[in-house]
Amino acid sequence: MLKWERYPERYKGGVKWLSIEEAKQWLREMDRRGFVHSLMLFGTRFIAGICNCDYPICDALTMRLDHGFNMLKGHYVAMVDYDLCNGCGVCVQRCQFGALKMNVTQDRANIDQMRCFGCGLCETACPRKAISLVERMTIPALKEVW
Ligand code: SF4
Ligand code: SF4
Repeated sequence: MLKWERYPERYKGGVKWLSIEEAKQWLREMDRRGFVHSLMLFGTRFIAGICNCDYPICDALTMRLDHGFNMLKGHYVAMVDYDLCNGCGVCVQRCQFGALKMNVTQDRANIDQMRCFGCGLCETACPRKAISLVERMTIPALKEVW
């Protein structure tokens, strides 16, 4: 950010500094709108940025989903509690990764965990709190699926 301030011509709209609380509120607002959060590391071990974007506008998501490289999945995967799910379908429209579909036979949401990126958009939208995120590493079949 300090570097960017030196080159105002590249950021004509200016740069706004956020407090931690403002940043959290902004992330919640992005979630409400249905944007996928992703961390940008730029080849380092540190978080250089938090991006909120959507497919197919986002280059990183498009490169991954259409061409299979550039972006890793999250550390969590989503899981549905069939006792709580009522089959409303709200979550299906939120998933940008093709991981959520309706199980028509049982009238419940079905998550393909191999496709899930752990973005959490389905979890926050579910009116029945039927979706939870679990750590990828706790599921043997998924812990190497990035
Ligand atoms: S939003 Fe929740 S209740 Fe509705 S289908 Fe999805 S998991 Fe089920
Ligand atoms: S957490 Fe997984 S299933 Fe839910 S919206 Fe994100 S990618 Fe889709």
